[in-house]
Amino acid sequence: MTIPKRFPWRLFSRIVLIQALLVLVAVAASGVAARYFYKQQFIAQVESQLHVTLKSLTQDLPGDLPANVTPSWCATHSHDSSFRLTLIASSGLVLCDSHHQVQTMENHLGRTEVQAALGSTSGFGQSVRYSETLSENMLYGALNVKSKGVFLRGAIPLSNLIASLQILDSSLIGFLVLIALVLGGFALWSGRKLALPLGRILLKAENVAHHQASEQEFEEDSFGELSELDSSLEDIRRDLEAKAENLNREREEQATLMSAISDAIIAVDLEGTPLFYNSRFAVLFGGQAVLRTGNARLWELFRDPEVLDAFRAALKGGKNTAISAHAFAHSEGQKFFSLSVAPLRRSTIGGVYGAVGVFHDVTALKKAEQIRIDFVANVSHELRTPLTAIKGYTDTLEQDIGQGRAISKEFVEVISRNTARLMSLINDLLDLSSLDANADNLQRIELSTEEISARVLKQLSGAFETKKQNVILHAGVSNVYADATRLEQVLVNLLDNAAKYTPSGGQISLSWERTPSNEVLLKVSDSGPGIPPEHHERLFERFYRVDKARSRELGGTGLGLAIVKHIMQRHGGAVWVESTVGQGASFVCRFPGALG
Ligand code: ADP
Repeated sequence: MTIPKRFPWRLFSRIVLIQALLVLVAVAASGVAARYFYKQQFIAQVESQLHVTLKSLTQDLPGDLPANVTPSWCATHSHDSSFRLTLIASSGLVLCDSHHQVQTMENHLGRTEVQAALGSTSGFGQSVRYSETLSENMLYGALNVKSKGVFLRGAIPLSNLIASLQILDSSLIGFLVLIALVLGGFALWSGRKLALPLGRILLKAENVAHHQASEQEFEEDSFGELSELDSSLEDIRRDLEAKAENLNREREEQATLMSAISDAIIAVDLEGTPLFYNSRFAVLFGGQAVLRTGNARLWELFRDPEVLDAFRAALKGGKNTAISAHAFAHSEGQKFFSLSVAPLRRSTIGGVYGAVGVFHDVTALKKAEQIRIDFVANVSHELRTPLTAIKGYTDTLEQDIGQGRAISKEFVEVISRNTARLMSLINDLLDLSSLDANADNLQRIELSTEEISARVLKQLSGAFETKKQNVILHAGVSNVYADATRLEQVLVNLLDNAAKYTPSGGQISLSWERTPSNEVLLKVSDSGPGIPPEHHERLFERFYRVDKARSRELGGTGLGLAIVKHIMQRHGGAVWVESTVGQGASFVCRFPGALG
């Protein structure tokens, strides 16, 4: 008998123990029953012998009883010293007794066997009881001899019965032990036969429960009669595996989806403990450390009463709440989120078990809105200045004409200058708006840097000459991949600024270079006053000026660099300024390579 490594000893011992107990009970019960029936049989036999003996003795009874009975009659007819014979008158008076003096004996009418004989149709009654006189169990039998008016009573000791019961007991015990051993062996054999496949089934069920591959591969028939259970288990295992796989896939999909969503999402239970949150939430609300502890509560993540109220309304009242553009303090500065909170309900019971909050980042929108507001205010302001001047001077001209005074040329010049200023402002605004709206598609082609530079320099030559500025062109790159009109606009804006802000007799240079990564750099440098570093970052914003008064005086709109930045972005490039106060300024434009 080979016992597998993981034999189910507990199960086996239980099966064997139960079977052994059953065997013991069965064997003990059959022993007791056999003994009982043997005893009953023995007594019945002795009783019938006694009955026969008493019956035969009736023939020896003297006539004319009770007068004629002699005290020795009983002793004479008892034959055997162990057989006690008593003759009792129908009144219960003992007439003679083989083992006793009648004078000392009490009335025997009340004796069980006598009463039984009186009540029996056969006239025979019996009783088994302990005899005080003989100190042993006796079988008493009484025969009612009605014709003579007496009872013949005999008593036989049951010592023979006890002796034979002892013999029976010892042989019975031997026999029963033998049977118990055989049945015990059978219990062991059948216990193993049952425990082995059950153990394998249990092992398999254990593996199924722990989603483990079976450590031990079982043969087809190793489950015996339990093979049906095995195949059901196999079905369950396959089903579980499929379900676990589906669940994992769904979980992965969900996790991917969650991390792909740009909104921050958090779900909490009724106590405010996070049930789940996506990576965006962890990043945005900086509560990773708190979140990672696993004990984080909603009020540790948000201090804002409005946000907490929204969650409370969902958790306690099952209400949906939406908050638009709520400001949150963030490590990167103030951020704005629109928040919608909805209760989580279990479809089966319909009760609220949590709430989910979706935080949508509207910071960019909010900023854009602010830029728009500022822009409208700036435009209005920029338009008002020349318009006020035009209005003022036209009013004066009107008055002069009305009063017949000569029209001042100076006034007309001022009106003309401000109108030109308005025109250039409107043109710049239209340019910006077309760039914003992506309205004009760039026609990028290979352009000769020398050709386009020369054209622009010629266009602005008047300004350079007026201020006696020296302009140098260095075309280290022959071609650039760009939109001709837009590139011209960039060059005009940068060179016009250089001419404007560089004092008379200054130096202006225009150079083209190629970077090691095949990008083209356009550099417009001047020997002007330079720009303090604190302005560098904001210089390309709309209407941003370092010196407002000077810019206006020079006819600047404050939009030139913003247009340059836009055009460069549209080309996939960039623009920046390099400048030290007192040492001039360089504006650098980077164009990506031809295939960039
Ligand atoms: P503007 O029409 O006022 O020149 P820009 O957008 O072209 O507007 O320029 C923004 C501001 O940048 C200018 O007001 C000026 O203060 C500064 N700036 C531009 N170019 C130069 C330069 N070459 N040297 C010094 N400051 C300059």
